[in-house]
Amino acid sequence: MARVVVVGSINMDLVTETDQFPRLGETLFGKRFAQYPGGKGANQAVAAARLGAEVTMIGCVGADAFGQQMKAILAREGVDTRWVSTGREATGIAAITLSAGDNAIVVVPGANHELSAADIDRAEQAFRDADVVLAQLEIPFATVCHAARVARAHGKPFFLNPAPAVALPDELLDLTTLITPNEHELATALQTPGVDWRAILQRMPGRIAMTLGKEGAYYATPDGQLVHQPGFAVNAVDTTGAGDTFNGALASFWHLGMAEAIRRANAAGALSVTRPGAQGGMPTLAELERFKS
Ligand code: ADP
Repeated sequence: MARVVVVGSINMDLVTETDQFPRLGETLFGKRFAQYPGGKGANQAVAAARLGAEVTMIGCVGADAFGQQMKAILAREGVDTRWVSTGREATGIAAITLSAGDNAIVVVPGANHELSAADIDRAEQAFRDADVVLAQLEIPFATVCHAARVARAHGKPFFLNPAPAVALPDELLDLTTLITPNEHELATALQTPGVDWRAILQRMPGRIAMTLGKEGAYYATPDGQLVHQPGFAVNAVDTTGAGDTFNGALASFWHLGMAEAIRRANAAGALSVTRPGAQGGMPTLAELERFKS
């Protein structure tokens, strides 16, 4: 069983469905409201935990009902929430309005932006015990860099899912064992717009796993060979959370080697899109085993 430390965001997604988007200053009745656990950090932690990993989450929520709910949801999934701290700001939310196939989204990071280097240092024992440390970019950049340094100091692989897309400084790239962008994030993260992604993967062999939706994922072997791990054909219902499922799975199965870890991450990602919701679609280890065979 892999021990995975996730350093990342914890949000509550608030989803409203309406017949039309409200105009400026307008109030209208919506059709439906629901709240779903979210945030890339929490999602990836849940994905890894469902697949059998021993997961520790390092994050920050507010002293409010959403914060309590998110911690309870993570704990129910078997995630260790000892290092989820409570900040002064409100728990992060995404206010999502859905109408006629379109969406409008406001994200308020809130307490996620209070996650600090000190929070990382407090959780040093978790780094010491980890097999893999996994982070994304919905928390302060300085905190991600600090987590990468602490992972390096303890000789642990550091995986970075560079989402949302920003340019990565060389120091962070050097500290990162594996980056896991989609095609768009790769160009932004490495500041290589217009450059063929195949060339970029070959320039950083064994250090990038690039996802490409239903096509699966690509990487280059240490000797520079481009490898395509094909996706699994499924009936896609909702692709929200596919990337998070892929990342959680990749960290969970990393000990099996890159090719097998990516194959299983593709299978987990494919299963996740056959069901609605981000965390709602994430498979268990038993479901993954049945699906692959
Ligand atoms: P992101 O959501 O971060 O853009 P992708 O869309 O590339 O990420 O999806 C991540 C992974 O999820 C893919 O590499 C693949 O394994 C799986 N996946 C995503 N969409 C599908 C799909 N329609 N069919 C099968 N697998 C999918």
